[in-house]
Amino acid sequence: METVKQPTQSLVEKDLQNVWHHISAYNEKSQPMIVDRGEGAWIIDHNGNKYLDGMSGLWAVNVGYGREELAQVAYDQMKKLAYVPMTQSHEPAIELAAKLNDMLGGDYMFFYSNSGSDANEVAFKIARQYHQQNGEGARFKFISRYRAYHGSSMGALSATGQAIRKYKYEPLSHGFLHVAPPDNYRRPKGQSIKEYNLQRAQELEDKIIWEQKETIAGIIMEPLITGGGILIPHPVYLEKVQEICNKHGVLLIIDEVICGFGRTGKAFGHQHFNLKPDIITMAKGLTSAYLPLSVTAVRKEIYEKFNTGEENSHLRHLNTFGGNPAACAVALKNIEIMERENLFERSAELGDRLQKELKELSNHPYVGDIRGLGFLLGIEMVEDKITMEPASNERVLKIVSDCKGNGLIIGKNGDTVAGYNNILTISPPLSCTDEDLEFMIAVLKKVFKENE
Ligand code: PLP
Repeated sequence: METVKQPTQSLVEKDLQNVWHHISAYNEKSQPMIVDRGEGAWIIDHNGNKYLDGMSGLWAVNVGYGREELAQVAYDQMKKLAYVPMTQSHEPAIELAAKLNDMLGGDYMFFYSNSGSDANEVAFKIARQYHQQNGEGARFKFISRYRAYHGSSMGALSATGQAIRKYKYEPLSHGFLHVAPPDNYRRPKGQSIKEYNLQRAQELEDKIIWEQKETIAGIIMEPLITGGGILIPHPVYLEKVQEICNKHGVLLIIDEVICGFGRTGKAFGHQHFNLKPDIITMAKGLTSAYLPLSVTAVRKEIYEKFNTGEENSHLRHLNTFGGNPAACAVALKNIEIMERENLFERSAELGDRLQKELKELSNHPYVGDIRGLGFLLGIEMVEDKITMEPASNERVLKIVSDCKGNGLIIGKNGDTVAGYNNILTISPPLSCTDEDLEFMIAVLKKVFKENE
């Protein structure tokens, strides 16, 4: 592929005049990075600069860039049959649903949409309608956690627990409640992680009881909070949440939009825990973002309530593009690649090596905690290791920008979490080579050393 040698200033100007970037404030001083192409774990900008993409785009390009097999399968499918609405059916959608069911141990039905937000909206609608048709129409509320992100559409944003993304768009949907997630690093002094996680789960149960359990439709949570700062619960937390859901007739919705498809070292994040979610939402890694596609997986017992033969008992939801044939064909091939290359196991291996190598950063004056699961890492920065005061935005951004200056893109938990915007996030393609991993480790060590 040809490399563009000169910065294309006219392209930058055109961009600044016409493109409204997502969740970004651009101006002449902070110009957009115009990405030209991707190869493996690397992206190359319009000036020919190479960066290891330590965020897989937005936690999505799990198999890495430039996979010809995925382009080919999309091309073949578009030529053969570009589109069918999902009121009908087609082979890639059928095969993909069957494959996903194999990966989940059977017992699910699959509803196709386009994005993670869509998949969560569908989950909320299914949960409410299910309860209505089950004779429990008062169950309309959902509980999620502060710091969690579940999407940008009105329902998914309502479930999101990051006020800064929400307050200018109020009023949002009625009936979305929040509780605090376990943040093990910041647990009260003297309390064991297990005890603390059980206490957090108890607070969730208390919320259900205070709100009147007959009004609660579902709980939505990621297996671990990703965008909100890599908060990994002790297994007792999620297992207790499952128990609470069973006890109070509340549906457990697990958001696997980031954690799914190998990110945490297993096919799905919830498979680390003893869980049987009622509803599972997926997107991003499903197609490694080569095409938009998302899925809401629903336990068959719930699905049956939509097929009672009663008038209007079916799900009143559709979208034009969900289950697009090329997107489904790409998802199938993407999963085939992950299995062929053992990328779920590779994710666990790469993540372990990354954590071991970076352990020495715990001695860095501004590093409070390093944590991860699979190829997903969080580095929590503090101003002071004793008081654990979160590091300033400037300090954290300096690390992000110095990494970029050294050819490594890493993330930060946005401007999203009130008070805690101090966590660096690293979520590279699962297809990273050993050399990619070594590069990443070398850059991180160098940059932290220079910022002591
Ligand atoms: N759920 C989680 C956990 C996410 O991280 C995201 C997006 O980052 C979403 C849902 C929403 O997905 P999308 O951006 O595809 O709507």
